Amino acid sequence: LRQIRKDLHSMQKKIHVLAIAVHPDDAELSCAGTLIKEKMLGNTTGIIDLTRGELGTRGTPELRTQESAKAAAIMELDVRENLNMPDGFFEDNPTTQLEIVKVIRKYQPEIILTNALEDRHPDHGRAARLVATAAFLSGLRKIESFLPGVPTPQVTWRPKYVFHMIQDRQLQPDFLYDISGATEKKLEAILAYSSQFHHPDAYQSDEPQTYISKPGFLDFIIHRDKMMGKIIGVEAAEGFMTEKTIGLKNFAGLVQETT
Ligand SMILES: [Zn+2]
Repeated sequence: LRQIRKDLHSMQKKIHVLAIAVHPDDAELSCAGTLIKEKMLGNTTGIIDLTRGELGTRGTPELRTQESAKAAAIMELDVRENLNMPDGFFEDNPTTQLEIVKVIRKYQPEIILTNALEDRHPDHGRAARLVATAAFLSGLRKIESFLPGVPTPQVTWRPKYVFHMIQDRQLQPDFLYDISGATEKKLEAILAYSSQFHHPDAYQSDEPQTYISKPGFLDFIIHRDKMMGKIIGVEAAEGFMTEKTIGLKNFAGLVQETT
């Protein structure tokens, strides 16, 4: 039995850096540069969307599904899944926690990137708390979980860190990740959501303008990334917050300010 379990286990691709966010496009806006950089370094990356963003003012859930697949291809993600929880009304409860535990045990990420603990959209904070709780529960042996069609329980898994991305509110990051060299691809991934964002050519729409569809919104993302980069002396950066203090094995990954 142990051997079968091990075999099933090795069939599943491990994802080093897994973003779990509530709306398709949250990860693109807030941590796409980090995912693209990690992929460039040879790590596997993925995004789990909790909902299809079906309450979004513009576009349709079907269109958003197509757009998120397009963005995934641009970021060269190894996996992208949607858990189909109800946008706006999903709860942080044992059922949803267990759904996320299953995903974490399935992909065994070292690092989880998730929504900001508090943000303009109330879904973000709730999702952040839900994912952080699930990441902890995923490491407990007495919580059994099963994948569909697999009779043996999943092996427990606890990621090293859960980092919270910074999206709408200007929160103080605990660290900045250098995304130099990944900014063009990040923008391309965001623009894959042509129904959501202002795009001069792609999507001519009579639908109402929203907070994120106004022309200035993309400028805000680009400039914020540059501002974050300026702080550490690089082209661009994305900020993250962490509840757990970061421990380093050595100083090898620290950025060198260009002179
Ligand atoms: Zn969102």
